[in-house]
Amino acid sequence: MANYYNEHTILYLNGAFVKASEAKMDFYSQSFHYGYSVFEGIRSYRNITGETRIFKAEEHFERLKVSAESLNMPYHWSAAELIEATYALLLQNKLQDAYIRPVVYAPANMSFNQNTESFIVIEVWEMAPFLGDKLLRVMSSSFQRPNPKGFKIHAKAAGHYVNSILASQEAKANGFDEALLSDMNGNVAEGPGANVFYEKDGRLYTTALGNILPGITRATVLELCAEMNIPVEEKLFTKEAMYGADGAFFCGTAAEVIGMESLDDKPFALPWEKTVSRTIQLAYKDLVVERKNVVVNEITGVE
Ligand code: PMP
Repeated sequence: MANYYNEHTILYLNGAFVKASEAKMDFYSQSFHYGYSVFEGIRSYRNITGETRIFKAEEHFERLKVSAESLNMPYHWSAAELIEATYALLLQNKLQDAYIRPVVYAPANMSFNQNTESFIVIEVWEMAPFLGDKLLRVMSSSFQRPNPKGFKIHAKAAGHYVNSILASQEAKANGFDEALLSDMNGNVAEGPGANVFYEKDGRLYTTALGNILPGITRATVLELCAEMNIPVEEKLFTKEAMYGADGAFFCGTAAEVIGMESLDDKPFALPWEKTVSRTIQLAYKDLVVERKNVVVNEITGVE
């Protein structure tokens, strides 16, 4: 098991900075029993001038609020106060390159009734790219993503991740690196913890919104495509459309941008180094550390 904290680690708990080893949570919490909590996955980076920068901080804390309100959880924090608390937390834990995990959770309540208060914890730790840094062998999952008629699928709710865990474990049990899940209609949706893009003839395609988590990295990739004049389309497509395409990648805060070698053992046609997707991966790496597209310029010729 990974080491998320030690005796010195501090976390942020309802306005206070407390030792992780001494922090308490209520075992009668509705969140613990029913998976009824919402969370975020955020990264901070040491930028090229040595400062700590939380990437897309406002976007993440805004989504946390949207997630909480979608689940009828009271939410009274401002993005500004949570961002300030997170920077203070990073400093106290002497971390610059970190993964940041805020969780909003419910009080003791064994009923299904709405609560009048919520609690928040923010944890920070060092984390390597979630899916590693090697090209991935991906398996199309036998699990579908939760049906938006049964869940608020745009919310980052803890309960949804039972589905992610099942899909990811199935893929690994079958000798693959990660799963790719379809939506309830059989179209490609997303990975267990990342959105998906594929590439064909210099164009990128990604799942249209509706049945997926609207990823902040996905939105960043779309922005990068606009800046770099890379054609990109949001649409619904099947896994067969991806088979034998030129390339594909997962993207997410934890995973960053990570290429795929194959889907269901069908390799992607171009070597990763020759794909447009690779230039996006490099541009993303530059953006998070606030480096102005040095590498991108070499490859694309874009000024
Ligand atoms: N889909 C799912 C199911 C996820 O868990 C994540 C990670 N939060 C993403 C997509 C990517 O979202 P983001 O880029 O905002 O991290």
